[in-house]
Amino acid sequence: ETIGANLERTVASYGDREALVELATGRRWTYTEFNADVDRFARGLLARGINKGDRVGIWAPNCAEWTITQYATAKLGAILVNINPAYRTHELAYALNQSGVKLLVSATAFKTSDYRAMVDDVRADCPALTDVVYLGTADWDSVVEAAAGVSAEQLAERMAGLSFDDPINIQYTSGTTGFPKGATLSHHNILNNGYFVTETIGFGPADRLCIPVPFYHCFGMVMGNLGCTTHGACMVIPGPAFEPAATLTAVQDERCTGLYGVPTMFIAELDLPDFASYDLSSLRTGIMAGSPCPIEVMKRCVAEMHMAEVAICYGMTETSPVSTQTRRDDDLDRRTSTVGQVLPHVEVKLVDPATGLVVPRGETGELCTRGYSVMLGYWDDPEKTAEAIDQARWMHTGDLAVMRDDGYVNIVGRIKDMVIRGGENVYPREIEEFLYTHPDIADVQAIGVPDKKYGEELCAWIRLHDGATPLDAEAVREFCKGRLAHYKIPRYVLLVDEFPMTVTGKIRKVEMREKSLALLG
Ligand code: ATP
Ligand code: MG
Repeated sequence: ETIGANLERTVASYGDREALVELATGRRWTYTEFNADVDRFARGLLARGINKGDRVGIWAPNCAEWTITQYATAKLGAILVNINPAYRTHELAYALNQSGVKLLVSATAFKTSDYRAMVDDVRADCPALTDVVYLGTADWDSVVEAAAGVSAEQLAERMAGLSFDDPINIQYTSGTTGFPKGATLSHHNILNNGYFVTETIGFGPADRLCIPVPFYHCFGMVMGNLGCTTHGACMVIPGPAFEPAATLTAVQDERCTGLYGVPTMFIAELDLPDFASYDLSSLRTGIMAGSPCPIEVMKRCVAEMHMAEVAICYGMTETSPVSTQTRRDDDLDRRTSTVGQVLPHVEVKLVDPATGLVVPRGETGELCTRGYSVMLGYWDDPEKTAEAIDQARWMHTGDLAVMRDDGYVNIVGRIKDMVIRGGENVYPREIEEFLYTHPDIADVQAIGVPDKKYGEELCAWIRLHDGATPLDAEAVREFCKGRLAHYKIPRYVLLVDEFPMTVTGKIRKVEMREKSLALLG
């Protein structure tokens, strides 16, 4: 089934139910209304010369038109290219040219970002880009008006010519470890993953999902939007960019049953001074994912946010994205201290990166995954594709993990982030989890910095709770002594107000390492 056909099936069953709510403008769509707007925009794009396989870029913070564009391109079989709203001209031009975007749907401006000026800047260097449609301007309306020249039958004919295996989406990875890579995904890849992720948290047409995570990333557009439309649930957009207060207000006012976020988002919500004043009693579930989910934060979601069934997912852009997820009826221990078990129809194995052999349960290995969820490849990059996906179609994730006896998986860290101190492997994740238990520490990240004697030394970046007495390195080491092996105790401690992050809310450890070197001299 294609994404367009799936949406139409949902409309047939749940046409009168709410599909989409945009809180910034107060606009609302039922499934029938949403599908009608999707069709109009799709026919408009067809009139503008967009055909199957053409790349249509989208560069905007979260808004209803983002979602409409997502489904309209899917109905045409055009390939949606998600462009990170934090990109600046250099990265924008790279993404547009690397994927050959023909038409770009772009915001005009948001906060300090003047998107229109940046598009003007790069346009001369992007020969494939022939058309730009600015959101919130007459451009959008003119595409919608052009729809009059294309009949519903013409659109239906286009849809009938699509295969579920066609590429439909290029998503650039977060760029946490280097330059972003363009994962090429099919209908089959992302439609199924969206379905299984929300199936696993028990979604149905009565559910309402608050989506503060960015649409340009798979967390928003696949787990969020496709997770809702495959089940007839409602997508609630709390705002164009993440804000903790707006998110909780949306949950409260829209009576959301589910809430998504990366760990730092949940931390920000729980840290709001007026947190207790929000009525979150409608919440039942949600998903925390994207980076290591601190056990303490998971416990607070359950205890203080009514998210009794909150799940953790593990995945990556290249695998549509989710590979493992905790189950609704898992006990709190499984749900807080593991990333769950393999999703239906997905395979996972852990191998020794040196030998490629499967490691015994309980031992650390590189997580490899195979199944419908593995991307078609990196766009226009057969070499990188061959490095990531082997001949037997296993995707090598670069993540280190352990599989417990019960089949539940623990992510230990990225191969690239592992610290080797004096020959001992240290996983920053373990140090971070330990330091989270300190009452004054609000957030913590650990990295390795070069050291003459030991090769690498651990450096902890610590953000304290408001009003906490500052901790020095000595106090932190004192806290660790006797409870962590000596080689795992951070040699350096930096007190910070924030961490360098990608827009998807991931910590850029590469940047932390560079900054640490500068700060430590
Ligand atoms: P790049 O590939 O460009 O360096 P990235 O890997 O961060 O960036 P994404 O595809 O957005 O880009 O993120 C996938 C990665 O996020 C995974 O490979 C894993 O390292 C991390 N991750 C995702 N979910 C979890 C989780 N629940 N626990 C720990 N790590 C996670
Ligand atoms: Mg990656």
